[in-house]
Amino acid sequence: MSTPRPAPAVTGRARRRDLAVRAAVRAGLLDPDETPLAAFLDLAGIAETTAALHAAWPAGLAVEHTFAAKANSLVPVLRLVRGHGLGCEVASPGELAQALAAGFEPRQLVLDSPAKTRPELRAALAAGVAVNVDNFQELRRVDALVAAPGSTSRIGLRINPQVGLGAIAAMSTAGSDSKFGFALGDPGNRERIVEAFLARPWLRWLHVHVGSQGCPLDLSAAGVAAVVALAEEIDERAGTRRVEGIDIGGGLPVNFADDRDDPAFTDQVAALRAAAPGLLTGRYRLVTELGRSLLAKNGFMASRVEYTKTSGGRAIALTHAGVQVAARTVFLPESWPLRVLPYDAKGLPRAAGREPGATVAQDIAGPCCFAGDLVARGRELPLLEPGDLVVLPDTGAYYFSTPFHYNSLPQPAVHAFEVDGTGAVRFTLLHRQETVADVVARTLGEAPASASPTGADGDAR
Ligand SMILES: *Cc1c(COP(=O)(O)O)cnc(C)c1O
Repeated sequence: MSTPRPAPAVTGRARRRDLAVRAAVRAGLLDPDETPLAAFLDLAGIAETTAALHAAWPAGLAVEHTFAAKANSLVPVLRLVRGHGLGCEVASPGELAQALAAGFEPRQLVLDSPAKTRPELRAALAAGVAVNVDNFQELRRVDALVAAPGSTSRIGLRINPQVGLGAIAAMSTAGSDSKFGFALGDPGNRERIVEAFLARPWLRWLHVHVGSQGCPLDLSAAGVAAVVALAEEIDERAGTRRVEGIDIGGGLPVNFADDRDDPAFTDQVAALRAAAPGLLTGRYRLVTELGRSLLAKNGFMASRVEYTKTSGGRAIALTHAGVQVAARTVFLPESWPLRVLPYDAKGLPRAAGREPGATVAQDIAGPCCFAGDLVARGRELPLLEPGDLVVLPDTGAYYFSTPFHYNSLPQPAVHAFEVDGTGAVRFTLLHRQETVADVVARTLGEAPASASPTGADGDAR
């Protein structure tokens, strides 16, 4: 018999996930009746990923890493990434308010809304939030606002380097006709941009975000290189250092095929070093705006299988994870495939290799009332049974935190978890599951709930 020894420290995302699923079942967080769907964030994973980001960039370079709030805008999540030394990129008044609620200082924020209103610009500039201007008309609005002295905001122009599209058109922002930024190669624009800088001593930054999932590293790096070349041209024309910093945006893609971080932040820095060596010389202050690459792989959703059936020979598992928490995957399954990991009712993995018996091609359906509400089609898995769990990994960004209110389904609970050296899991509730009353409250409309159609104050005729 073996002698007891101290349990090894738990490392590895997949191992922590397995332990968390098992522990969540034991803790009642995946109650078949009350909470059949829940989301989980791996705190150790987030710490590792943010540490890897900080470590990937050359020491001594002035780099501010910001988290793109749209990737997961739950205020406790923003607070968490703030604790790991990140700033925050926001793209709407709501995201700006969420970032402030999470404790960010205005000077840690970058505002990139594509359609900024006058009040939005005024508030950002008054608070000292960095602003990236999207177009010539917006620049004229900013002109009027910076005339009032005192703003400490860094102000830059968002450049579309028009280097081309990635694999997912909707995620590609640097096509020749993208809706974002100043189109650098359009007739006359390069000269107008240079002149805009020459005429405005307060205009000191350039911004570029080539795009997200589906954009290869060398495409993004080519976009950054084009902006570095523009910065050099502006400085040369000004005869002085005019461009103080370059914000290179986000968009490092995520690997949805397995648990590896691929590409890694070091791959991104290597691609930038090769394509845009001028970026890393220390001449410019730098900002990054990463979203999915920081959080996607550190979160997962788990759903009970409510029913299973066959229909026309097709095996279908009906679960609670559908379009309301996986909109992109449901609407564009080819572009956004997710893994489906099967667990039994107790939360133990049902790995195909460990079980005798063949796998069966199954559709994993969500709870919504339309036929296309499937998170996977024809997936080879051990035959699922009611009460089993399906886990959707890599969903820490842009999934449960970006819900779609179809069928008035509630937002699921979000639990953070930590695994100690003995394999014990501790959960912290970050966001409770919405109740039916919450759902009603957000759809109530203007009529007082208590007023009857013929009530004393209701019938004025
Ligand atoms: C969405 C977005 C990001 C973050 O993109 P990820 O692919 O999540 O890294 C960064 N900057 C801007 C301007 C964005 O719109």
